[in-house]
Amino acid sequence: MKSVFINQHGDESVLQYGELPDPVAGPGQVLVEIRACALNHLDLWVRRGLPTLKIPMPHILGSDISGVVVRAGASVSHVEAGQEVIISPGVSCGYCEECLSGLDNNCREYGVIGEHVHGGYAQFIAVPAQNLVSKPPNLNFIEAASFPLTFLTAWHMLVANCHVRPGDWVLVLAAGSGVGVAAIQIAKLHNATVIAAAGSEAKLEKAKALGADFFINYEKQNFREEVRKLTAKRGVDIVFEHVGEKTWDDSIKSLAKGGKIVTCGATTGYRAMTDLRYVYFRNLKIFGNIMGSKSEVLRLAEFFKLGKFRPVIDRVLPLAEAREAHRILANREQFGKVVLEI
Ligand SMILES: [Zn+2]
Repeated sequence: MKSVFINQHGDESVLQYGELPDPVAGPGQVLVEIRACALNHLDLWVRRGLPTLKIPMPHILGSDISGVVVRAGASVSHVEAGQEVIISPGVSCGYCEECLSGLDNNCREYGVIGEHVHGGYAQFIAVPAQNLVSKPPNLNFIEAASFPLTFLTAWHMLVANCHVRPGDWVLVLAAGSGVGVAAIQIAKLHNATVIAAAGSEAKLEKAKALGADFFINYEKQNFREEVRKLTAKRGVDIVFEHVGEKTWDDSIKSLAKGGKIVTCGATTGYRAMTDLRYVYFRNLKIFGNIMGSKSEVLRLAEFFKLGKFRPVIDRVLPLAEAREAHRILANREQFGKVVLEI
């Protein structure tokens, strides 16, 4: 099959376009013909290499996949050839206490498709049958590939961890990113008031179209001061963080008493400073978050089917242009998702 793979970690030049053997669906697995694969910032981290990540080479990147079922392996009964699907990006053992409690992202064997196992920069993939979710019929394959990882992560951050409620003030940092776009929509679905922060006016305009209520351009404005002004010095109930070192201190200090900060990334660096006086004097709560559960992907697909959420696509490129897609993401030129069409 045609695919884009890496034989070593490194810059964009390690992405190779070429042929790899077709995957085979083993027992409990399903072979899917991939139609689209959306990029995530995670793809860049995996390409560059992570200290704890040991994967066999060649490796195929890509976590957000849509496609059509080709055939089911042995002992799979609920899936049919020709079914249009999206693939839930998390894989786990399926039999430990965490998995059976619906907390599969806490499984000791938890992994992400495209990170720990082969992903979607290819014509075919074999995945566990339990990872298949019916494609919402109102979304095309490009749109369907654009939401699983980011919406799952943002949903788990805001709903499962922070219990976002009507009337909450939510500050979404890097509002133009994939998770930022999801966070705005999820917070609005829960009738929260959203402050979107981004580095350009164009990105803030698009955040407005998604329903955000207030806007901060943090290239020009100090977001902590702006939050104070907007909330009459009270602060926000929730900060949606994934920027890291550059914003963390101001994020902590933007919270109201009893406020919650939740993070799923450290794009600008991980050695962030936390002023502990704020944490205890203001009764703050800090949450870390990787992904969410498979059950949450099913719920998200329902919201897309009902038209409650909108996929946001920045641009679509052919598989062979994966290097260009990585370059766009690295330079943060996009608003929403960059998607490879297979
Ligand atoms: Zn498990």
